[in-house]
Amino acid sequence: MTVSGKPVEMGIPDKIDTWQMVEPFTRDRETKEVTPGKIERTVVDVPELTPGTVLVQVAGCGVCHTDLGYFYDGVPTVSKPPLTLGHEISGTVVAGDDHWLGKEVLIPAVMPCRQCLLCKTGRGNRCLGQKMPGNSMGIYGGFASHIPVPSIDLCEIKNRGDIPLEKLAVVADAATTPFQAAKRADLKVGDNTIVIGVGGVGQYMVQELKALGAGTVVAIDINQERLDNMLKNGADFAINSGGKSARDVAGELKAFRKENGLDTFGWKIFEVSGTKPGQELALTLLSFTGKLVVVGFGPQKIEYSISRLMAFDAEIIGTWGCLPEYYPAVLNLVTSGKINFTDFVQTRPMSTINEAFEEAHRQSPDQRIVLVPDF
Ligand SMILES: [Zn+2]
Ligand SMILES: [Zn+2]
Repeated sequence: MTVSGKPVEMGIPDKIDTWQMVEPFTRDRETKEVTPGKIERTVVDVPELTPGTVLVQVAGCGVCHTDLGYFYDGVPTVSKPPLTLGHEISGTVVAGDDHWLGKEVLIPAVMPCRQCLLCKTGRGNRCLGQKMPGNSMGIYGGFASHIPVPSIDLCEIKNRGDIPLEKLAVVADAATTPFQAAKRADLKVGDNTIVIGVGGVGQYMVQELKALGAGTVVAIDINQERLDNMLKNGADFAINSGGKSARDVAGELKAFRKENGLDTFGWKIFEVSGTKPGQELALTLLSFTGKLVVVGFGPQKIEYSISRLMAFDAEIIGTWGCLPEYYPAVLNLVTSGKINFTDFVQTRPMSTINEAFEEAHRQSPDQRIVLVPDF
């Protein structure tokens, strides 16, 4: 069995090759002096596989905004460095539970404990005891040759056709988070929706809303190329908000609504950019019986008159991760071609991890970067 020309070797390897975050970038509070972080090639032991744990040979691991936050921006990981980052992982089970042996799998980015009240009441995506590779699973993460994981949450990949296994890594976070967000918004067939920020996660948000039956999807971004792409992949209308005030954008939306005879109420807005202007725009657009779902993360504070929510009978909702049980549905949207997937993913050798991190940190790439182990 091979994946992109590399053999998949069954059994337990001698060691795990990994690119570990030895230390993140740090900034001195007083002097503001920045000490550069370090990601280094390291070798770690294979842990003993306890019942219910399998070893996955990594086919690919996506570089996520969250990884960059841990490395560059002082966001703390639960397990202290050195540890291996990376939580968007696809691969093949090579050891552990017989039932899983040889199967191609996605490892969910967030794995609930399945014991607590949140888990038992359907809110396991925000379980407080959840485990995340490259954050809270000890030293183990996806930028490695192998990773030990609980088998209970694995999503088996079937019928992937000619989609390379390593590219499917992106389903494990960038493509599943929007699905959970749509569920959180109680998306109904025919709903009118807006997506602000159509980069790494937002492009899937647009495509999935359409695939799940949204009546209208309006894409908003400051990057015209991305917007043009979205018009070919599910968006009905695009607004370039670059250099415009929130009121200007609201005006353009109103004209579009009028032209198409769409309701003025009940719009569901997905804020994916995580930026201050994006969030301010989302709040400006939120109106009667509307819902604003906060998908993107940013550290800034925003001013808003929350009494408007009362007058509008509207809601602001946060959403986190995605329940493992939704993974097969998202995977099916991808493998059945209902959403265009491969155009938005690029692969690179894992040995270029330092360059890939730097590049993605400078500017979020139009195509998500998946690192493929070459060591
Ligand atoms: Zn992520
Ligand atoms: Zn739990």
